[in-house]
Amino acid sequence: MVACLLGACVSCNDDGAPEMHNVIYMIGDGMGLAQVSLLQVAEDYRPTAFDRAEGVALIATRSANNRVTDSAAAGTALATGTKTANASLGIDTAGVRLVPMTECAQRRGRHTGLVVTSYLHHATPAAFYAHVSDRREDEGILRDMAASDIDLLIGGGRSALGGACPEGGTWFDAFGRKGYRVAQSPEMLDTLSALPVLAAVADKHLPRAEERGDFLPRATRKALELLSADDAGFFLMVEGSQIDMFCHGNDARCVLDEVRDFERAVAVAMDFADSHPGTLVVVTADHETGGLTLPSGKDDFTLPDSGVEPRFSTGGHTASIVPVYLYGTGADRIRGLMDNTELAGRIKQLIGE
Ligand SMILES: [Zn+2]
Repeated sequence: MVACLLGACVSCNDDGAPEMHNVIYMIGDGMGLAQVSLLQVAEDYRPTAFDRAEGVALIATRSANNRVTDSAAAGTALATGTKTANASLGIDTAGVRLVPMTECAQRRGRHTGLVVTSYLHHATPAAFYAHVSDRREDEGILRDMAASDIDLLIGGGRSALGGACPEGGTWFDAFGRKGYRVAQSPEMLDTLSALPVLAAVADKHLPRAEERGDFLPRATRKALELLSADDAGFFLMVEGSQIDMFCHGNDARCVLDEVRDFERAVAVAMDFADSHPGTLVVVTADHETGGLTLPSGKDDFTLPDSGVEPRFSTGGHTASIVPVYLYGTGADRIRGLMDNTELAGRIKQLIGE
């Protein structure tokens, strides 16, 4: 096996398979198996991107201090491979700073990016760059975002980033001083032609899927275009952030819209992997939200199909295990039932810790 330390080549294993060069890590926030099944049923079992998976696994999601995790602890586990307490981001239960896989990729000379439909300082994206004990510490999270040197940031959060930065001007100005090209509307995404970029295109979260159109798949495609413009290799995290939000609201129709939107972004990533050997796509969730079930409309199963009536059992998160779908180079190297920290640990190994 030839080590690909500089990431400028696609070298091969002994068996001739190309080495993993790019990682696209896709997180459906709150997306359990029922949320994926909701799409499957709505699409009348037409194959979706989830059905293209070449490998599957399952992960348990508990946090260090609660069998039901929040998105901060779950994001930290998925980003760093270490459990922490609910509400903590990027530090362990003793307050020790953890290393997210974005940092591992940077050490390897690879580009890094985050694409989300929440605001960019929300828990899941923040787990990939922030180190704070409370997810509500917006100032600390913005400070860590500006210091992270992540090459590509696309999502919401325009109001917070327009706020005052301690070094003068706004946070947008702070990114500008570091050479970032800044976009503040979805239309401006198309004008971005080189890294580094910061696109905060909504005041807080992006609007719901029905209103934001193809933003997530389009932003994913733009991110892949910019991150693969040279041969350095990259790590990209894409989050379907709002699946969770509508599960909290027990709104099955909007959950379906969000899962469908996320699936389109997954398809973009898988298509990229098809045309770029050396790319691994990992699709998973941080936890399940809503306790969603898909019961039959009637209990008598001797009758023809009686419909499926989505029901939620809670407005909060649950302790259910969640799925992992793998596609592309290295998809065969991750399988089975594992903890969320083990999944992250294996991805970190593939990136090179
Ligand atoms: Zn939630």
